[in-house]
Amino acid sequence: MKKNGLLNGILNAFFPPRCVFCDKVDYLYDGVCKECLEKVEKIEEPVCLKCGMNKKECRCKSETHYFDGICAPYSYEGVVRRGIHLYKFDKNRINAEPLARMIAACVRERFPDVRFDMAVSVPVTKSRLKEEGFDHGALLAQAVANELNLLYDKTVLKKIYETRSQHLLNRVLRRGNLAGVFEVTDSAKVEGRTVLICDDVSTTGETLDECSKMLWLAGAGMIYCCTLALTRFTENKQ
Ligand SMILES: [Zn+2]
Ligand SMILES: [Zn+2]
Repeated sequence: MKKNGLLNGILNAFFPPRCVFCDKVDYLYDGVCKECLEKVEKIEEPVCLKCGMNKKECRCKSETHYFDGICAPYSYEGVVRRGIHLYKFDKNRINAEPLARMIAACVRERFPDVRFDMAVSVPVTKSRLKEEGFDHGALLAQAVANELNLLYDKTVLKKIYETRSQHLLNRVLRRGNLAGVFEVTDSAKVEGRTVLICDDVSTTGETLDECSKMLWLAGAGMIYCCTLALTRFTENKQ
């Protein structure tokens, strides 16, 4: 214990902990500085467990999904949006763990009675992985799985070919853009299982839904999704 304390002390002196949302060196509350803690946009209870939004902003009347439920602690705006960019584009890999703790806490809170059999992430193609240098989705899903004591399977979902960025397309094109790009490599692994798909953010829900569809077609029993943030419907009307 003493040794770990010393090691942490040395590590903190050279790599002082930074806020996962704004990257400032500050006193942190589980990875978040006081300022961000005040600014962060939580998805407040009561929450719709099917679409993950506050019940006042429930999307279930206008959208149907292959997944059985989704949850996220935050709305995709402000400091959280910045934090996701820090992690994803500035490649602050060290943030995977604190971000995963936030996601895992939300999963425990929203789905206390669901017994998940495995966690998966949204797959990327090899060429994209080479380009980006790290699989941010896999790293985050692995950390969420560790937090929840779940098996993480990186290979059961596969992305077959590259697609255009979803956010550049309108709703109809987005659907078409994703059709058939994912496959389940071994349906025996998911048959009858309760699967948790983890991702950093869901802006349109379509990527997670397409992954869910493939898992559903492969015979998965129940499919849930969890992300750090969801885009609010009002911002994303197309
Ligand atoms: Zn901060
Ligand atoms: Zn809903």
